[in-house]
Amino acid sequence: MALDTSLILLNDLEKLCRDGQLNSVLNAVNIMDERGLYVSTHILSCLLQLGMDKADSRAARKLYHLLIRLGYDSDCHLASQLIHMHLLCESLPEALQVFGKLSTTDAFLWNSVILAHARLGYNQQTLNLYHRMQECGVSADKHILAVAVKACSGLASLDQGRLIHCYIVERGLGSNDFIVSTLIDMYSNSSGIEDAQRVFNCAPIQNVVAWNTLIKGYIKHGLVSSVVKLYCQMQQQGVELDRITFISILKTCTGASDLDQGRSIHRQAVEKGFELDSLIVARLIGMYGSTGHLLEACMVFEEAPKQDLRIWNAMIAIYAQHGQNAETLTLLKGLQQAGLEANFSTSLSLLKGNNRVISLDQVRSVHGMVVELGFDKESPVMNTFITMYAKCESLHDACRVFNSVLSPDLVTWNAIIGAHAMHEQGMNALQLFHYLQTQGWDLNWATLCASLNACSSVGAIGEGNLIHSFIIESSLECDIMVMNNLIDMYIKCGNLIDAFEVFDSLTDRDVVTWTTLISGCCQHYQYEKGLQLFQEMQEEGVLPNHVTLVSILKACHCLSALDQGKLLHECIVGRGLDSEVSIINALIDMYAKCGALLDGRKVFDKSCIKDVVTWTTMIDACVQHESGPEAVFLFKKMQQEGIEPDRAAFLCAFKACSSVAALTQGKAIHRQSFERGFSLDNAIVNSLIDMYMNCGSLIDAQQVFEEAPFRDIVTWTSMIAGCARHNNYQLAQEYFQNMGQVGIKPNSVTFLSLLSACAHVGLREEGLSHFKSMLSLGISPMLEHFTCIAEVLAHSRDLDAAEDVFETCPFRMDIAGWLSLLPHCKNSPSMAKRCFDYLAGMDCKKAAGFVLMANIYVAAGLTESASLVENLRHHANAWKKPGKAYIELGNQVHEFTCGGKRIPEIDAKLQELATEMKQEGHTPLVDLVLQNTPNEEKERVLCGHCEKQAIAFGLLNTAPGATIRVSKNLRMCADCHSASLTICKIERREIIVVDELCVHVFKDGACSCKFEYD
Ligand SMILES: [Zn+2]
Ligand SMILES: [Zn+2]
Repeated sequence: MALDTSLILLNDLEKLCRDGQLNSVLNAVNIMDERGLYVSTHILSCLLQLGMDKADSRAARKLYHLLIRLGYDSDCHLASQLIHMHLLCESLPEALQVFGKLSTTDAFLWNSVILAHARLGYNQQTLNLYHRMQECGVSADKHILAVAVKACSGLASLDQGRLIHCYIVERGLGSNDFIVSTLIDMYSNSSGIEDAQRVFNCAPIQNVVAWNTLIKGYIKHGLVSSVVKLYCQMQQQGVELDRITFISILKTCTGASDLDQGRSIHRQAVEKGFELDSLIVARLIGMYGSTGHLLEACMVFEEAPKQDLRIWNAMIAIYAQHGQNAETLTLLKGLQQAGLEANFSTSLSLLKGNNRVISLDQVRSVHGMVVELGFDKESPVMNTFITMYAKCESLHDACRVFNSVLSPDLVTWNAIIGAHAMHEQGMNALQLFHYLQTQGWDLNWATLCASLNACSSVGAIGEGNLIHSFIIESSLECDIMVMNNLIDMYIKCGNLIDAFEVFDSLTDRDVVTWTTLISGCCQHYQYEKGLQLFQEMQEEGVLPNHVTLVSILKACHCLSALDQGKLLHECIVGRGLDSEVSIINALIDMYAKCGALLDGRKVFDKSCIKDVVTWTTMIDACVQHESGPEAVFLFKKMQQEGIEPDRAAFLCAFKACSSVAALTQGKAIHRQSFERGFSLDNAIVNSLIDMYMNCGSLIDAQQVFEEAPFRDIVTWTSMIAGCARHNNYQLAQEYFQNMGQVGIKPNSVTFLSLLSACAHVGLREEGLSHFKSMLSLGISPMLEHFTCIAEVLAHSRDLDAAEDVFETCPFRMDIAGWLSLLPHCKNSPSMAKRCFDYLAGMDCKKAAGFVLMANIYVAAGLTESASLVENLRHHANAWKKPGKAYIELGNQVHEFTCGGKRIPEIDAKLQELATEMKQEGHTPLVDLVLQNTPNEEKERVLCGHCEKQAIAFGLLNTAPGATIRVSKNLRMCADCHSASLTICKIERREIIVVDELCVHVFKDGACSCKFEYD
């Protein structure tokens, strides 16, 4: 009886299948299964065949689950059918999942799977599958080899492309004309055009396809003049030109604006009968239009035998490009009257016409036209507008368009979810996602990627977890794009562990998967882990792309792993990736941050492509390595080479001017930055204040402050710190009070600036009272605050109390702390010795400690002890940092180094001054020179001090009475300080010296600083 029922059922089901009732059969089979009835492979096969005919992805997924439940998912025949069905539905991840479970697979199935991936442009997967197929011993035919080469071309992967090329030659397929063209394309995409030309030259027959591919390569490399030559060669060799040839050539004429050539090609195209080809007609219109010959473009349009949508779009694009909105509108109306419907590419033509950079106004104006003509019912057109508005930073307009769409499709929904995620409205994006879910929409990869991005943007890890479960439920976990976004979501939400878990669960990982996790590790400061993953990635045969390399170079500099960085550099050069600008920038940065400025400079000089980031990175590196004059020079040179500075470049230029007190150029760059619209940018304003303070110009800093449109805590603190550097406690205190009056609460940096102002001048009561009020505000002091307090005490000659602070503060005092105390111990060599011993105990390689100690012994008349310390310094290998002084004259910064080359004119000027200074009562502090030489030689050494040289150079080269402005990288020495006091009097000049610690303004025989130099 049971058997009979089955038979009857089987007949019925077969009939239903023949009638195409997919869902009815599916339901029936499900019911059969629930009732424990036998379901034959025959009926399943019929069902799958029906599924293939319908190409319904939802049904395909149901069928897949049915097969698993029935245990047929590894049945070779059924699985193959299922795979083909998935492929027809373009559900590649599902196809791969079934495919992966099959133990034996034939060449036909391999080919289908690989070709389907290639067709949809999944290059990495195509290549992976190709390699797996080779490993399984299934030999690739010429079609598979061609798509593998194409995939390499798409990935611009020269290494893999070469490997497959070798294999092709081995297999004797090297002269197959079909493969030759793909090889030409691969080389022109991933290597230089020379390699492509070589393959072309070696081909036994150069057919028109090979020629066209070569032309495409030349166009891609911007070698337009060569393209015209190739075109002539083709004609000479009697190659029959086809439509592709004409299409490419006409594109070149647009680029080169070579109209004569264009006209002759036009004639030939007509001779060959291509005037009926609408794409060629559209290209002709584009050629005439883009070179400004609208009349000829119109003639081509009028004469076209059949004006289809493509031709109309070309005309519309031309008019929109020339900003002729009225004509554009007339054309759009004409298009409608011709009974054609504007489509996706019409709106694209309009937007493209309005040039590459599209502003919000332009999108609005085009949108207005579209609405006026009633095209706003077209959902593809509206979907484009949603994305366009979102990209132009108007979520509001994007939402307006979305609301006007009567029946949004999934693309519309994905666009609006993406728009919200882009505008950091992650929660709203997620609400839209949930709405779609509850309405039972069949969500695709794009929906999930957009929703995961939404989670990332607001750190919604809980929502992210839910989406993760949903991905598993809907068997989308084999879609590599979705999984990469999932990993990215976990990283951006700060959960590296789950990111790793997802990563480990994947069977297929492409370069994006690896790179996402590697840069995630770097974002979470796990640089070593990042390097380890990089190693594993290469072991698995996945080649890094430029994003991976940039992350790894960052990891190298964060770990100061110069050797590893150098190895990576070699590998980058070996793979020919050293022309990628982001990699160049990362290389320069890596070298500079690892202390190898010269290596970074070599990369910079060798690179032929430099963008604003490249220049800024190099300028910043120079500033870091105390090459200020070079940094200022490079900023000028960058602009001479036609690169406009951006915000980061300006910030960097201000730092460069700061480091060498280049006030004139700093002012010019200041003006320039305001002209570029940065006057409202707080970071720019704050760094301008820092720059003027460091150039020793309090007035300019104050003016920037007064004119600042908005003052934040950094602005105020910069002013206070600047006043401290100018030893102007009163002014610092004033700014501090005003800041409180406008309701801004000081932070720990503000207090540090204030305390250092007290420390410089030695204001004990004020310093201690600020320290107390800082504690009462609940701001916990850091080591630097204690150092300041100790300095304040030392300044008021309370050395014991200062030492007490150091010994009782909750931090271990660092080298900088003891160094700051040392100069105050002038009158107490024993205390100085204690400081010095602390420093020695900290394995101090800084020469400053030794030098200060020796000077204190000299001042106390203990020259022998001084020499002893000098010897210790030599033993400790604590070499003095070369003193450098800078002075800006005209538009150039001049650099002087202590003990550097002497210039006769400057020496003569200093000799002349020395005599006058002696008359004024200045005696050179020869004891500061710890060499066993006669006093005359010591005086000569003192004259070689860089700040004196710079001052003399300034006196010689500026108008009488002009202010001399010098910057020094270390502290000014006592002799130079006292000499400057006298020089300013003799020469009747204001001399400003900005040193490591403060700004000295020498005027009328006095200095603004209150340091006890002698
Ligand atoms: Zn000096
Ligand atoms: Zn001074």
